Amino acid sequence: MIKALLGVGILSTLISIAIIIFIIVIVILTFLAINNLHRLPKIQDSIENIEKHLRFLAKYERERLIKEGYITQDADSNASPINHYANSGDTWICKKCGDRNLSLSSYCKGCGTYK
Ligand SMILES: [Zn+2]
Repeated sequence: MIKALLGVGILSTLISIAIIIFIIVIVILTFLAINNLHRLPKIQDSIENIEKHLRFLAKYERERLIKEGYITQDADSNASPINHYANSGDTWICKKCGDRNLSLSSYCKGCGTYK
């Protein structure tokens, strides 16, 4: 009888500990999820910055090629792979300011309006 009661006591204690650990894990996972949601706009900004740098490099490279006589001034500016990417279906155009944005970004890089 005492042994049985002791057994139930230990079992309920173990269940209580398991429930507490479960709750702690859920709280930690929720905290991590919220933390990563806050990082999403930063990741989008990084992608946009990379795109800006690539555009700048493409423009710089084009100017260099013109300067060195490899291509002419009136050469198709859309021939650049980066511009090709920007003109593909992976972008959206802002209704407010007409800026072209990556489909990954949920807001306009020009005016901040949401897609
Ligand atoms: Zn805009």
